[in-house]
Amino acid sequence: MQDSEAHRSLHKYGTAGVLASFNNAGYLPSKNWTSGYLHDGFNISGQAMTKTILKREDTCFGCVVKCKRVVEVPGKIDSIYRGPEYESCAALGSYCGVTDLEAVAYANQLCNMYGMDTISCGATIAFAMECFESGIINTVDTDGIELNFGNGSALVKMVEKIAKKEGFGGILAEGSARAAKVIGRGSEKLLVTVKGQEFPAHMPQWKAALGLIYAINSYGADHQSSEHDHILAADPTSSERNRLAKIGLWKGSKEFRSLDEEKVRFAFNTHCFYYLMNTLCLCQFIAGPGWQIIGPSEVVELCRSGIGWDTSVYELMLIGERQVNMMRFFNSREGFTKDNDTLPEKVFIPLSGGPSDGVYLDREEFKSALEIFYKVAQWDPSNGNPMEGALRRLSLGWLLS
Ligand code: SF4
Repeated sequence: MQDSEAHRSLHKYGTAGVLASFNNAGYLPSKNWTSGYLHDGFNISGQAMTKTILKREDTCFGCVVKCKRVVEVPGKIDSIYRGPEYESCAALGSYCGVTDLEAVAYANQLCNMYGMDTISCGATIAFAMECFESGIINTVDTDGIELNFGNGSALVKMVEKIAKKEGFGGILAEGSARAAKVIGRGSEKLLVTVKGQEFPAHMPQWKAALGLIYAINSYGADHQSSEHDHILAADPTSSERNRLAKIGLWKGSKEFRSLDEEKVRFAFNTHCFYYLMNTLCLCQFIAGPGWQIIGPSEVVELCRSGIGWDTSVYELMLIGERQVNMMRFFNSREGFTKDNDTLPEKVFIPLSGGPSDGVYLDREEFKSALEIFYKVAQWDPSNGNPMEGALRRLSLGWLLS
């Protein structure tokens, strides 16, 4: 861990340690994804948290990285609920234009108290804030709350109302996709969801291969279902690239925001590896195919030592691929098709303000990468479902009977 700059930062600043650099680069989703930059965004960063409300670090069992945060504000924020992760700082903070760290940490506390997902909760409120700002809804709809971007106290009130399904909170409690159906009036255009699930805080306009996974993933947009694009751009002699080669990715791609064929193979192969991580219950900051502390070869050693299974990278990759295909098969049985493998309109519209002003994801490049992805995965290009050959290759022929 001590040899890894990324893990030293995780220890010192938590996952929110990346927030300030994402904002400086122009890729911190802000104001319901209309911009990649938030003025004063540093105030909700891991660095700011460490300087202000951090009480101590915490850890999952036996992990030396200790990326968990424990925060406290006497009389307001109770350390028992722990501190916000990067995703929570973004969803409850920058998505909503809120730079008041205490408000974000308190909203995070409420989500933890009531058992609500911070990404979906914050993103749904951000969606409502943009509806409010654009005049689609007003204070009559919001029970008198001025739901403007940047309003920390409105954020906190709305989290509480969602948890209790109280008034307008009852509509938002169903998530933004269902709320848009109730609100109507063109609000659907403001959604940032795939398959009804709100986006995590990594932008497809920057990480295009990750955007591809957002679109195809069986349970909607997720940032922990594949490796992120920049690893493929690492130096060819780096440990990251050596690890990627172990799962068949030896070419690399310097084109950060492109979606060429190598990016598609990168998306698919690392998608399978991340699903394997789920199966093995390994933390994806610790084990993975790229930047993590241990890579594919060490995961094989762990399996050999821990469960006495004389396995290989090839065999483990098939486990991940099998899981991806079973979930895909389940979805197709329940009526999902390639029409559900989409990204919201927002990512194809130029961002506004900051260093990423004018940046968008190229719609045609995305569509063509999606078609290549189906071929790489052996999924039927006409409907996006696993083809018989793929299922039989993965010993899943029994699904067809
Ligand atoms: S196991 Fe993972 S999430 Fe838990 S403290 Fe370690 S690095 Fe953080």
